[in-house]
Amino acid sequence: MALFQTIKTVSLTYEQPTGLFINNEFVPGVEGTTFETERDVDIAVKAARTALNGEWKHITPSKRGQLLSRLADLMERDTETLATIEALDNGKGVGMARGDVAASAGCIRYYGGWADKIYGQTIDTDSESLTYTRHEPVGVCGQIIPWNFPLLMWAWKIGPAIATGNTVVLKSAEQTPLSALYAAKLIKEAGFPPGVINIISGFGRVAGAAIAAHMDVDKIAFTGSTLVGRQILQTAAKSNLKKVTLELGGKSPNIVFPDADLDDAVNWVNFGIYFNHGQCCCAGSRILVHESVYEQFIEKFKQRAEQNKVGDPMNAETFQGPQVSQLQFDRIMGYIDAGKKAGARVVTGGARHGSQGYYIQPTIFSDVNSDMSIVKEEIFGPVCTVQKFSTEDEAIELANSTSYGLAAAVHSKNIDTALRVSNAVKAGTVWVNNYNTLHYQMPFGGFKESGLGRELGSYALDNYTQVKTVRVRINAK
Ligand code: ADP
Repeated sequence: MALFQTIKTVSLTYEQPTGLFINNEFVPGVEGTTFETERDVDIAVKAARTALNGEWKHITPSKRGQLLSRLADLMERDTETLATIEALDNGKGVGMARGDVAASAGCIRYYGGWADKIYGQTIDTDSESLTYTRHEPVGVCGQIIPWNFPLLMWAWKIGPAIATGNTVVLKSAEQTPLSALYAAKLIKEAGFPPGVINIISGFGRVAGAAIAAHMDVDKIAFTGSTLVGRQILQTAAKSNLKKVTLELGGKSPNIVFPDADLDDAVNWVNFGIYFNHGQCCCAGSRILVHESVYEQFIEKFKQRAEQNKVGDPMNAETFQGPQVSQLQFDRIMGYIDAGKKAGARVVTGGARHGSQGYYIQPTIFSDVNSDMSIVKEEIFGPVCTVQKFSTEDEAIELANSTSYGLAAAVHSKNIDTALRVSNAVKAGTVWVNNYNTLHYQMPFGGFKESGLGRELGSYALDNYTQVKTVRVRINAK
């Protein structure tokens, strides 16, 4: 099995590594399959465990930081290749993918900066003792990522785990394994010791489930659907009670008050739902608009959505490419049909874009009610609903009438309205007069059924460290 393939795209030619990245080498799966199996997971976990107990243990925190920083530099150096891979593999526009690479490298560098700034405390209880805490690595971390931001999710997971001295077995999504493997090559080039970061491709039910059940994995970090998140938590509980963090689905409200700058709000609402073709866990898919500006908003939003450039991912001007797979395309079209059948009004879109490929027109439904599946369920595509409210209390009630709680937004020029509503909405992130502006310095995660724990920012470091208390007795003279 050739482990590198020459890929020629319209803009560049590059060597794509394949196989399993283990101990800094690309190797074939033990059973000769393209997607790795349970046995491969076991080999990767052993490599990570050996690395944890070896050279890595003695590497200084500042050296860990330097390695991450070097990795970030290499990712930036190879921006064009990585962005092209993302466009090819995921379908996102290459211009948008360049933004993903910049954010991914930024995240890795940011956590490199944290590596030598992780401190415990000294706790003064009495004169006969010295008590202090150490923030120790959790150990071998299993990380399972989705297909919507393949490289960015790789960076969100690897950055904090490595900064805090852990080792990693990361499984990419079966739909989008390529950027994870290309970036693995950069891990070796950056000079990480073998086995510190191991990357496998594999199906969720096989390789993902094997990571969740593995008795020698100390922690699992998962980003994906709420359904699978529940299974991971159960599997962790049934196996070795590995620590779990989950970043799951959402049905996030985007609330427009009558005193908002309407054009500005329309732009952010448009970006909130259609960015990444609606394939964002935090997508602003439920738009709540005050009745006094409802019709005006819908007219402006329709015009704005129709201007989104849908098309070839290899075109740098493309805002919206195809959905990731036939399965996702069919699911989304199923929701669109269900919305129509339930009597919702199609303001724009509501059909496939063109005659081939998984392209879907940016779709807006209005005249919906809270019982419709398009209002209740995560669609994960370029489809949103617009609902009317008359009072602030009603807006808050509608915003919170979901089992999810990942994100929300408020559009208003009134600081009191913006802050009151931000405080009342049950969501892990609230954007005021903007949307989807994630940043690696800001914690991100879910209230309610949208997840457990926080990624990014200094908060993510807690997921990857365990606190040890040391109490020393001081003999009296
Ligand atoms: P999506 O529906 O967006 O594909 P999933 O939650 O199915 O989201 O997938 C997200 C990630 O979880 C992928 O890497 C996938 O392979 C993995 N996965 C899917 N099912 C399982 C499972 N039962 N156990 C562990 N990982 C899984």
